[in-house]
Amino acid sequence: MSDAQGYNQPLGGNEMPRFAGIATMMRLPLATSAAGLDVGFVGVPMDIGTSNRSGTRFGPRQIRSESVMLRPYNMATGAAPFERLRVADLGDIATNPYNLEKSVALIEAGIAAILAAGCAPLILGGDHTLAYPVLRAMAAQHGPVGLVHVDAHADVNDTMFGERIAHGTPFRRAVEDGAVNPARAVQIGLRGTGYAADDFDWQRARGFRVIQAEACWHRSLTPLMAEIRTQLGAGPVYLSFDIDSLDPSIAPGTGTPEIGGLTTIQALEIIRGCAGLDLVGADLVEVAPPYDMAGTTALIAANLLYEMLCVMPTPNRHEVV
Ligand code: MN
Ligand code: MN
Repeated sequence: MSDAQGYNQPLGGNEMPRFAGIATMMRLPLATSAAGLDVGFVGVPMDIGTSNRSGTRFGPRQIRSESVMLRPYNMATGAAPFERLRVADLGDIATNPYNLEKSVALIEAGIAAILAAGCAPLILGGDHTLAYPVLRAMAAQHGPVGLVHVDAHADVNDTMFGERIAHGTPFRRAVEDGAVNPARAVQIGLRGTGYAADDFDWQRARGFRVIQAEACWHRSLTPLMAEIRTQLGAGPVYLSFDIDSLDPSIAPGTGTPEIGGLTTIQALEIIRGCAGLDLVGADLVEVAPPYDMAGTTALIAANLLYEMLCVMPTPNRHEVV
């Protein structure tokens, strides 16, 4: 439903019970086009890019289901996104479950169409392969973008099983294609075992700032985000958030878990710390409901997507044609 000013509002919990009705993201209206929207939630259900446990094809649906508790006002930051942004759920981009390269092309075209309408996508994944076509679409619209990448993994492999497209390669491909400006790129939360001691050095050598998980342990990430805002400065920024950046004890529903990860509090600090950046879109990827025994991983994902909405910049209406 929309208010008197034409801003869509989540369906209230006193109008329809939270366990009832159609489970769109945040119980927002479902839109068939991005025209007239500032921000659109869009699902990319796919898992043929995964390397271990699959199941992220069910991520968008489960995130929507766990989003029904979300209310419009952010009681911590004061953000009121539905008073300044026109938001809807755009449904899912149809990928090809038998062909990853075709899926990548479908994702790039789907995101490009959303961007062409002047709408910023907040993407419900889906495995992390999707970040590659999304970043290509972003660069086509905005030029090379800055990047905040939160993940247990670097996802800068050259190939996996001989393939150049996979959920562990998107940021290497995006840098090679000139879609990401490496001097405006940061990675947070990297950890775990590697194939070689220099596994995190390919992107460092190109200018990425890499903050490994151990540097985050036991501390607030609010000061780090202040540094990152200074480093990234003005200009478009894309936020890519892999749920496996969180510790598997709190977010078990994912395909490639690594111990010693971030807390939900640190995840909130990272996303809230993006306020003031020129965010042009974001994703929340790698939620695998078959491993999400209590639904907590999808619940966290839904909340983090809401927090992303809260820090999306207000568009300049005078520039809207
Ligand atoms: Mn990843
Ligand atoms: Mn990961």
